[in-house]
Amino acid sequence: MVTDHTPVDTRKRRLRDLRISVTDRCNLRCTYCMPAEVFGPDYKFLPRSEILDYEELARLARVFAALGVSKLRITGGEPLLRRDLPDFIAMLAGIPGIEDIALTTNGILLPKLAKPLAQAGLNRVTVSLDSLDDETFGKLNGRGVGVKPVLAGIEAAEQAGLGPVKVNMVVQRGVNDQDILPMAEFFRGSGRILRFIEFMDVGTTNGWRMDKVVPSREVWRVINQRWPLESAEPNYQGEVARRWRYADGQGEIGLISSVTNTFCGDCTRARLSARGELYTCLFAATGTDLRGPLRAGKTDAELRALVEGVWKAREDRYSEIRNENTAGLPKAEMSYLGG
Ligand code: SAM
Ligand code: SF4
Ligand code: SF4
Repeated sequence: MVTDHTPVDTRKRRLRDLRISVTDRCNLRCTYCMPAEVFGPDYKFLPRSEILDYEELARLARVFAALGVSKLRITGGEPLLRRDLPDFIAMLAGIPGIEDIALTTNGILLPKLAKPLAQAGLNRVTVSLDSLDDETFGKLNGRGVGVKPVLAGIEAAEQAGLGPVKVNMVVQRGVNDQDILPMAEFFRGSGRILRFIEFMDVGTTNGWRMDKVVPSREVWRVINQRWPLESAEPNYQGEVARRWRYADGQGEIGLISSVTNTFCGDCTRARLSARGELYTCLFAATGTDLRGPLRAGKTDAELRALVEGVWKAREDRYSEIRNENTAGLPKAEMSYLGG
């Protein structure tokens, strides 16, 4: 909902979506996100006192909603690890102006949580799955977890009414690019929407190199050769996935070209880290502390003015200026600020 307060940044992009990271922890160690060598047994995750509690997060969500945010996405780390998550969803669902609450998860805990989350007001889930081959997937997720628990999670979400489920696959050359067709085949005609994501240089620990990126146009070519694709209209302006429909009516796929066909010009997303910092770009090194002012007793109007000021000054367009050299710039880890 656009309000009188809805801020517009220096590139005329309004604030519309908020991604809330509820934890920096995860039960997996995907090599492209939280490599086990870096996020090992001695890694210092945020202590509980550093993390915003649900009341605090919901209060900030309310502040963002008053500025025109209508879509929320809960993420992390692995959001389903945070205790009593359905209680938080219920709080968010009650905020005036919030029209859509989605969640991104690795799916493993969905069999237990899908139903209570749906009952609390969650609308949709996106589940990450990078391969249908247990060995490839187990290596990629750094914990040897097989495909079955994730598929069980997807089914649980559907049964709870959280469909159509979107499935995110991060494609890396020489790692899981052989799985493009098997994944497409498996999800075709299933009612689930498979989205291929280009491997991104988020954070500084995942060993990103341009030659590991499989460009979306290559994914498109491989699939189109086997099952012809037709262009589909975006669902809304600023949708990150470019939609393609199977010409034979077996559903659709999405291509997220964060590296080769950037979408900064339409980027209406803000991110709130578990520690309560506002990030205006996935590739930013630092965020603006909202927890300090919140805990110091600032009013909603004061917090709103703070967020508004940050958004109005926003200039981010990292993906447009990315090159081999920018990959080494300081950046917050994705598991920390929320994917
Ligand atoms: N743990 C949840 C999950 O895996 O879905 C939520 C957080 S995760 C950081 C959010 C999304 O970011 C996932 O779909 C994941 O595959 C994607 N992601 C993580 N690192 C990435 C990278 N380097 N390039 C592209 N996508 C990445
Ligand atoms: Fe965990 Fe998600 Fe990152 Fe994988 S992508 S390590 S599941 S936060
Ligand atoms: Fe938005 Fe930053 Fe990604 Fe560009 S690089 S689309 S500004 S998050």
